[in-house]
Amino acid sequence: MAKNDEEVIKQGYMVKRSQNKKIYTPVNYKQRWFVLNRKFLIYYDNDSEDKRKEKGRVDLENVHSVEAILLSSSIEENRPQGISYPFQVGYQEYNQDYALHLLASTPKERTDWILALRTICRYNKNLRTKYHTGVWNSKRWTCCRNTVRGSVGCENCTTWPFSSEEKENFTENKSLGTSQSSHIMPGGGGGGGGATPGTPSAKQKEKPAVRSKVVIALYNYKAIESGDLSLEKNAEYEVLDDNQEHWWKVRDTHGNVGFIPSNYVKEKDLIGLQQYEWYVNDMSRQRSESLLKQEDKEGCFVVRNSSTKGLYTLSLYTKVPHPHVKHYHIKQNAKGEYYLSEKHCCATIADLINYHRHNSGGLASRLKTSPCDRSVPATAGLSHDKWEIDPQELMLLEELGSGQFGVVRRGKWRGSIDVAVKMMKEGTMSEDDFIEEAKVMTKLQHTNLVQLYGVCSKNRPIFIVTEYMRHGSLLNYLRRHKQSLTSNQGLLLDMCIQICKGMAYLERHNYIHRDLAARNCLVGSENIVKVADFGLARYVLDDQYTSSGGSKFPIKWAPPEVLNYTRFSSKSDVWAYGVLMWEVFTCGEMPYGRLKNTEVVERVQKGLILEKPKTCFKEVYDIMRKCWSQLPENRPSFRVLKEQLISVAQRLLVD
Ligand code: ADP
Repeated sequence: MAKNDEEVIKQGYMVKRSQNKKIYTPVNYKQRWFVLNRKFLIYYDNDSEDKRKEKGRVDLENVHSVEAILLSSSIEENRPQGISYPFQVGYQEYNQDYALHLLASTPKERTDWILALRTICRYNKNLRTKYHTGVWNSKRWTCCRNTVRGSVGCENCTTWPFSSEEKENFTENKSLGTSQSSHIMPGGGGGGGGATPGTPSAKQKEKPAVRSKVVIALYNYKAIESGDLSLEKNAEYEVLDDNQEHWWKVRDTHGNVGFIPSNYVKEKDLIGLQQYEWYVNDMSRQRSESLLKQEDKEGCFVVRNSSTKGLYTLSLYTKVPHPHVKHYHIKQNAKGEYYLSEKHCCATIADLINYHRHNSGGLASRLKTSPCDRSVPATAGLSHDKWEIDPQELMLLEELGSGQFGVVRRGKWRGSIDVAVKMMKEGTMSEDDFIEEAKVMTKLQHTNLVQLYGVCSKNRPIFIVTEYMRHGSLLNYLRRHKQSLTSNQGLLLDMCIQICKGMAYLERHNYIHRDLAARNCLVGSENIVKVADFGLARYVLDDQYTSSGGSKFPIKWAPPEVLNYTRFSSKSDVWAYGVLMWEVFTCGEMPYGRLKNTEVVERVQKGLILEKPKTCFKEVYDIMRKCWSQLPENRPSFRVLKEQLISVAQRLLVD
């Protein structure tokens, strides 16, 4: 191997998933030290050079695809916690297809690896246009269920990083008749006929092409603060600085530079279906039904991830013969083409949707519109590095309710953004400590957590400004809609799953809620449920609330170790979550009815638990019971709970 081929282009830790296992548990994921040179991707079991033992290598010449994998793909199952950015390197050896599944620890790390690998492999003769997002398992691909191992993939590969200059070089090399291996290894170091100095490929050898990160806006965003930049849906932006998690500095195509919320954009290479207004990601069957029924338009539709990972479902509203929603699995044939009715197959899902816009082709209706009132996610704070909000910029509107700290009112920030403003009664909380904490809390961001935008802390009373949730508290929502909800167990289970996802995020960030209950969750449009008031309990000054003997202490949501030693943990949140599930499935009944607090404590100490709500599935009640294990270590984590709930939903409800 030429010396240059051994030059290390990139190295670092990643987690590698074993190949050819039947069931994947965390032991099948091993941390390895990866070294990339121009010829091989090599992995070792140790990073210190003298003790290194090579565990395997991929000959880059054989690579046919390098792709980020969607979060919904099967590789997510049982993967180790906290490492969330999978990608795969597909290659062929001795006519057999393999895929190396790797997990990077940050999105940036993943992009960097993908780009480095693609830069080296970009001239490979066997590059593919399709790849499988799943794995070959039990004689079929988990992503598309295709039973042909050598079948072309089911997802389109993203475009490889050819700049126009690189493309020209490629054609030039070809026309010069340089041997294949010089195409395979840009820089001509690949064994055979190397490029002569001065040729374009020799230039590349000195400096592998580096491409900047390009993102596409998923939503419009209006910059309000100076230093921020507006986003136009579907436009491209070049990322200049992504060191902060939630606010990135980007440049638009006119050369304007500014900060944008990172959850409003998606990397161009990874955008997939997200660019389409009809794609709603992880929306459940029940939520898609209520969204489409709310729109009440013939032919209104969405495409969502099916509860079977890696598959998609079309949900379509029709009024014939009576208003209802039909759900169709989008299937794939052996060629990897998509179809709803076998007569009309298309290369991509987008083509298929377009086809059915013009032809019902067996569907209950032609596809016409998608719900227009799609909610836009909240940003982490109202601008980059902003958590102190000027009260002059808040227009206070109607009262939404009042709670333990005072009145909550709807508001508009700078006349355009809906917010909820909690006006803290003086003397109810240790304000200075809370204001410090608020800086951290604005950075917690998840679809199922009520976003803290910031605080007005310069005047008294202080205001806490959060995302506005139009349907108010979950407890009241459950009670108000008891009749319709009781008959919709799927929607109730979906609410529990959403809350569990928000809590799993808090758990991952070692953040304890301390007062999880239905009264502290809120409901927004599209039946979205979010957890509110996390961590706030620590700053309450009222003894009646903070001490377990106090009259306002949430005793009915507290596990034995909190009652006995005030020992809070994520596992005490899990107990409270079990009680919250019970509240959801009874549509807002009071746990333990009219029992007095002292009687509840006695019962809990004796190991007596809440009874099964009448209409609740046994499988769901079994999960509640696990949350009420006496010893905290015997309770499942939120991550595990989430998986169990999703699998119960899959088994009990038709997708
Ligand atoms: P506290 O925490 O002070 O006890 P809550 O957070 O319970 O107060 O708020 C009281 C009521 O105000 C809630 O029950 C709900 O109806 C309403 N509310 C609170 N926050 C919001 C919000 N972000 N969006 C909409 N309504 C809200």
